[in-house]
Amino acid sequence: MGKSETNLDDITHWIDGARVGGTPARTGEVFNPATGEVTGLVRFADAATVAAAVQSGKRAFPAWADTPALRRARVMFKFKELLEKHQESLAAILTREHGKVLDDAKGEVVRGIEVVEFACGIPHLLKGDYSEQVSTGIDQYSLRQPLGVVAGITPFNFPAMVPMWMYPIALACGNAFVLKPSERDPSASLMMADLLQRAGLPDGVFNVVQGDKVAVDALLHHPDVAAVSFVGSTPIAEYIHQEGTRHGKRVQALGGAKNHMVVMPDADLEQAVDALIGSAYGSAGERCMAISVAVAVGRIADALVERLAARAKSLKVGDGMDKASEMGPLVTGAHQAKVKGYVDLGVQEGAKLVVDGRRLTVPGREKGFFLGGSLFDHVQPSMRIYREEIFGPVLGVVRVPDFAAAVDLINAHEYGNGVALFTADGNTAREFVRRVKVGMVGINVPIPVPMAFYSFGGWKKSLFGDTHAYGMDGVRFYTRMKAVMQRWPGSIGKGAEFVMPTAK
Ligand code: NAD
Repeated sequence: MGKSETNLDDITHWIDGARVGGTPARTGEVFNPATGEVTGLVRFADAATVAAAVQSGKRAFPAWADTPALRRARVMFKFKELLEKHQESLAAILTREHGKVLDDAKGEVVRGIEVVEFACGIPHLLKGDYSEQVSTGIDQYSLRQPLGVVAGITPFNFPAMVPMWMYPIALACGNAFVLKPSERDPSASLMMADLLQRAGLPDGVFNVVQGDKVAVDALLHHPDVAAVSFVGSTPIAEYIHQEGTRHGKRVQALGGAKNHMVVMPDADLEQAVDALIGSAYGSAGERCMAISVAVAVGRIADALVERLAARAKSLKVGDGMDKASEMGPLVTGAHQAKVKGYVDLGVQEGAKLVVDGRRLTVPGREKGFFLGGSLFDHVQPSMRIYREEIFGPVLGVVRVPDFAAAVDLINAHEYGNGVALFTADGNTAREFVRRVKVGMVGINVPIPVPMAFYSFGGWKKSLFGDTHAYGMDGVRFYTRMKAVMQRWPGSIGKGAEFVMPTAK
């Protein structure tokens, strides 16, 4: 990273295999959320800088698409090796700009590496179908080809992993890629660009443009961008999907979430409490698969709330670089204020605030964007703290009388990203999997993020478009299918055919 005159990091774009400043334009402040200090200035791309990145991808695309899949896979193998070697320093960048605790950041890198591992199998994944003799002397086959220049627009909460849901597969399929990372924690993108170059990726095949809505709109409107993958909040996902498809692009846009975890009366209470504490407060609740609603079924509610309260009060909140911390700060002061505002709102709406995280200070880190874990009981479905995504360390408990009421509650919610059920009963679990209208389901698993060889995606307002991220859906999204029918002169009969050909 370069340094500006003020000794702040100068966070640039990456175009044609080098860090570039782009057209002098606006910049944004990047913070260390644990100290509250500004650590860098990120350059915001204008339309001309975005066009330069797309142009670079367009130039590099034909040779990369022509490179045998096996050789593209070898770049991915090398990239995986480099990511493993630099896992610690990449994770430290994530902690420094996002705030999550270092071990969690390392886990994020590992889950990204798993997608690179999947992409290493691209020669196999691109295999088409072949049918001989579909008619006398005629064979049919299908193949998949890359789209061209594709773009990825990503959120702040997983600055390494979410881009890695996209570009390893897009690149392995033979596309050129332009990444527009979150302006709140942009530095990881440059380190990944550098590692890709060192892995042997030709310059121009992977470009990064930093910025905000201006850069996003320039990508959405650029005629040479063939497809857009987006991950972020629901209003922006919906906008990206509408605007991108209106401009003739293939779009997959993953949005926000309100993930429920149902605790049945027969569940192991200790296991359920552990699961809720980790998944509600881990990464300060800033995960799209965080559990933000505990659905307590029947008689288990009082005991559940009592145990959750004790654990939420004793969470170790601190600087993510401190090994003792279980939970770090929120990403920015603005986001901290927004989450705190939701806790105020819950009190006004009449939910019972059992644990209040609003007044926490961390000694030595008084200016950091910290909040303690908050816990609400008696949350009602009509309340905004139930309906809206808070994206912070706030867990609400909704009490329901039985299993059917739990399923109805979840199915009525507008989001449908992830969900979990804790029970000891196989039949209840099976019914749940069948009935629940949510894209990713955990049975006694609180955050069921699919492995790299499956695909990630929610239902309802959690996803716009029809393919999920990574896995085989990723391969489908980043390629076009071509169906070929062939015969050779020796098997062609004489005379023109005027009727619809059928198998002969
Ligand atoms: P966000 O929607 O604010 O930003 C995401 C991206 O969109 C960023 O790159 C940002 O620069 C850009 N953007 C922001 N406003 C824009 C606008 N008006 N026009 C065009 N582009 C704009 O999301 P965030 O706050 O960075 O991330 C948190 C959100 O992402 C949460 O809602 C979370 O649930 C969601 N998320 C979803 C998933 C998933 O897989 N479904 C995964 C991670 C995060």
